[in-house]
Amino acid sequence: MRILDLTLANIRAMDTEAIVIRIITPSGDMDSAVDSPALLNFNDLLVAIRDVMPEATVTAFEYEDEVGDRITVRSDEELKAMLSYYFNTMNEQRINGLLPDPLQIFPRGTVHVPPPGLNSSRLDDRLERSDVCDTRVSCAVFPSSSLKKSSAELKRILTNGQINAQDIHYQEQLGHGNGGTVYKAYHLQGKRVLAVKVIPLDITVELQKQIMSELEILYKCDSPYIITFFSAFFVENRISICTEFMDGGSLDVYKRIPEHVLGRIAVAVVKGLTYLWSLKILHRDVKPSNMLVNTRGQVKLCDFGVSTQLVNSIAKTYVGTNAYMAPERISGEQYGIHADVWSLGISLMELALGMFPYPQYFCSSPQDPPVFPVGQFSEKFVNFITQCMRRQPKERPAPNNLMDHSFIAQFNDGNAEVVSMWVCRCLEERRALQAQGHV
Ligand code: ATP
Ligand code: MG
Repeated sequence: MRILDLTLANIRAMDTEAIVIRIITPSGDMDSAVDSPALLNFNDLLVAIRDVMPEATVTAFEYEDEVGDRITVRSDEELKAMLSYYFNTMNEQRINGLLPDPLQIFPRGTVHVPPPGLNSSRLDDRLERSDVCDTRVSCAVFPSSSLKKSSAELKRILTNGQINAQDIHYQEQLGHGNGGTVYKAYHLQGKRVLAVKVIPLDITVELQKQIMSELEILYKCDSPYIITFFSAFFVENRISICTEFMDGGSLDVYKRIPEHVLGRIAVAVVKGLTYLWSLKILHRDVKPSNMLVNTRGQVKLCDFGVSTQLVNSIAKTYVGTNAYMAPERISGEQYGIHADVWSLGISLMELALGMFPYPQYFCSSPQDPPVFPVGQFSEKFVNFITQCMRRQPKERPAPNNLMDHSFIAQFNDGNAEVVSMWVCRCLEERRALQAQGHV
């Protein structure tokens, strides 16, 4: 009975009581307050530890039980058990009139050979051969400045500044691509709807770390034409990427788009691409399913390749060719911004026609210039697409010239209403068809 009472009290305490976690590292201890222990998950804590110990590959941590035996924590469940044990100890210390000790944890993992500059004369020989680290031994490896530098970051992570897996309530599947599955979800703390892309990846912790750091540039992306990135995290062998939800979905599921609407969409896509290029980011996957719209008439790009490691890891399980790829990419040559321009051209052509313009076996590198049905499209539009789809990359419009092309310039009027009305009408039509059981 006492155990049950304690357990219930602990669960309540975890919801309401802040605790202090002390990370015991070779170069000193690091204390951090955790406001809501119940919301803390294993992965967040691991990220925080890795941040304090950047030279080590930390895969787990340990705590000490009442007789000093070390217990390893490798999962959310083991973390919960540790917190429950800690709240028990805290209660008992309070009953005995003592101030509770912080929760001490001891990182476990692999220490790598530090770069020559860091190689301290006190460095233990054993640690020079990438070895399993017991943090009580590996004192010489870590520069203490890294502790100070990362304390603010650590605090942010531990106090749930990020989106945690358990705060996300999945609602419905939005779609499934080659890499993973996208869900509509609700983030309880942020009180907002998200799109969460979940990609299974069987990769090492090292690669996971590399992907996380490569994704950091997404926090800096700030453009009305680029999907807002909120957070990314690994849980076991899956990465979840949380972004803004677009209630109109992607353009691939819309029927043919009239030119006055497509013109406004094209303006937004060109502005989004120009923004990415200004950050030296190639999109690499421009296609209708990566152009998202909402009922406010906004058009935003998603799924651009900022993480080479993520792209490579997904590519290992990818089957088939990308029909929107420029000919120079398909033939394995070097490519740059002009390859995105090709993909822009073929995507807009598909959206205008309401179907992919070439038989799939062409593999997106048709020998001849694109052919449009006579009399259905303006000369400016046909000219724009023809220029974007020139076989020679250098003959395609340069980034600066895209905005100046007469087709784009004529629709650069900031009129989001046109797209908004069109999205709303299409969604209503879709709903009506669904109600009749046609979809
Ligand atoms: P591929 O994997 O080849 O890139 P894809 O782009 O269709 O194909 P995903 O990126 O996994 O695959 O996206 C699946 C679907 O999820 C999209 O087609 C789109 O309809 C939907 N989707 C993706 N992101 C969002 C978002 N932020 N808001 C709303 N819907 C989205
Ligand atoms: Mg996509």
